[in-house]
Amino acid sequence: MERGSSKSEIHYHIRWSDSSIDWMAFATKEEATSAAGEMRKPNETYVIIGCDDNCERCKLFESEAISRLKVKRR
Ligand SMILES: [Zn+2]
Repeated sequence: MERGSSKSEIHYHIRWSDSSIDWMAFATKEEATSAAGEMRKPNETYVIIGCDDNCERCKLFESEAISRLKVKRR
């Protein structure tokens, strides 16, 4: 039995015009675009960038999120 596709996991990030990148990952470009539309400030522009499963941003975010959780805990 084979399960699912073995495609590499493509996901999407929002890159804002001030060159900061939103850490949230989106499964589809449409999701990222609509989320960006909601978060967007006036006059701010963005591009949606696609990443595969070897995404440094996600790895960085995960390690940062974990260390933040540890710090927050009292
Ligand atoms: Zn990513």
